[in-house]
Amino acid sequence: MALETKICQSCKANFPIEPDDFAFYEQMHVPPPTWCPQCRMTRRMAWFGYRILYKRDGMITFWHPDSGHEIYDQKKWHSDAWDPKSYGRDYDFSRSFFDQWRELFMAVPKPALQTQYSTMINSEYCNGASDCKNCYLCFKFDRAEECGYCNSCSYLKNCFDVSWSNHAELCYACVNLERCYQVFFSQDCSDCHDVWYSRDLVGCSNCYGCINLRNKNYCIFNEQYSKEEYEKKIKEFDSSKIEAFFLTQPRRQFHGYKNQDISGDYIYTSKNTKDSYMVRNSENLRYCQLLKAGDVHNAMDYTTFGLNAEWIYECGWVGIQVNNVKFSIWCYKSHDLEYCFGCMGSGNLFGCVGIRTGEYCILNKQYSKDEYIALVEKIKASMKEYGEMLPISLCPWPYNESNADEWFPLTKDQALAQGFAWRDEDVREYKPASTQVPDHIKAIDENILKEILKCDACGRNYQIIGKELQFLKRFNLPIPRHCPLCRDRARIKQLNPIEIYDRSCAKCKKDIQTSYAPERPEIVYCESCYQQEVM
Ligand SMILES: [Zn+2]
Ligand SMILES: [Zn+2]
Ligand SMILES: [Zn+2]
Repeated sequence: MALETKICQSCKANFPIEPDDFAFYEQMHVPPPTWCPQCRMTRRMAWFGYRILYKRDGMITFWHPDSGHEIYDQKKWHSDAWDPKSYGRDYDFSRSFFDQWRELFMAVPKPALQTQYSTMINSEYCNGASDCKNCYLCFKFDRAEECGYCNSCSYLKNCFDVSWSNHAELCYACVNLERCYQVFFSQDCSDCHDVWYSRDLVGCSNCYGCINLRNKNYCIFNEQYSKEEYEKKIKEFDSSKIEAFFLTQPRRQFHGYKNQDISGDYIYTSKNTKDSYMVRNSENLRYCQLLKAGDVHNAMDYTTFGLNAEWIYECGWVGIQVNNVKFSIWCYKSHDLEYCFGCMGSGNLFGCVGIRTGEYCILNKQYSKDEYIALVEKIKASMKEYGEMLPISLCPWPYNESNADEWFPLTKDQALAQGFAWRDEDVREYKPASTQVPDHIKAIDENILKEILKCDACGRNYQIIGKELQFLKRFNLPIPRHCPLCRDRARIKQLNPIEIYDRSCAKCKKDIQTSYAPERPEIVYCESCYQQEVM
């Protein structure tokens, strides 16, 4: 098929459908989309919340008490104490599919959290997590111990306030690290140790305020010192000068490595991956985001998370051995699903909620294989809107508590105008801080653990936990003035946006595509100019 330009049903912008896209839609037996890639992504992201937790009936949960959804603790939800198929119902051809889907969705109980609960030790305030020990307020997080306030990381130990990182130990306030040890207030660094306030370093140690260095040590603002000079100099290091210094140094147009035929940003060891963001070890993707766990093959419009996934279309929070999954949210270890929510270890489900180890079900009702195939075909043929994601109007998360708000924040009016729900802050007054926090950690003792602090930015109350205090004292770091949620959001903002712009290389003037918007003040180099600069 030739390139076609369509008008987005939602925002009315033009968007292209290319010959390769048609081939994918044909393979997946779906019609081409009627929403543009940006609107599809936002809708998908609005379909999962995970970060805002509530206390409800003695449980910690990310389902708001007013959501109307019944909540089971995870142990019960995953057990045989209840049967999701008992909520099964006949399909009524005189009514719309999505109305019937909504009724089922509201009726079936949900687990309080989405963790692999049996692998979580003393980590009850974490969500989207597995294999965590003694972790607190960590999200999208696995194989970690003794951490707090981290998001989207694997294999962390004794880290606080770290996001989008793998294999890190004793790191603090960092974004996008790989294999780092004792790295603080830094971003886009790999194989580094004892690094502070730095960006884009590889194989470096003992650096302060450095950028674009490879295999260097004892540097401050990219200047080489002897070990003795360095130790003297860092005592008078002024972190307020970093941003101005960084603006004098070139940035690479793109984040990632070892790729072939890709476009987007933060892409690692992937092939034929277009218009995608934060992807690893993947192949044949388009319009995919936040697949940092990797190993995804043949997918379009897929957000979070991967781990052996193939033939995925318009899904969010789907992964771990999934194959041929469409229009579904939060399904693991399953194949051949359409319009499913919270189904695990299953195959051949259509419009199901909460099925575990089931096959050939429609609206949670059991059929034989032949009945299932015939009825699904009949339902699809009768649906006016088959082939698009679950509508926003069915989404259980208000926009401001969803993944979408983290990447594309909207005001209440904007969100409502676009058809999203919104939840105003719960009516309760945040308490004033119970103490004045001294600036220096040396002046603080264990009594701080009993105090209620108040976020300088949003006014929410928060507390300091024991292992956090020990960590801050060990590295002479001040008590944070912002609450964990504001810190988490600020770290997402440190990443470049999910958006690609046309710009020209500041050195050779060649046209480049980059996630640095043209009006941003950074000096951006094309790949070859950048490599000449840093190596
Ligand atoms: Zn649109
Ligand atoms: Zn705050
Ligand atoms: Zn250039």
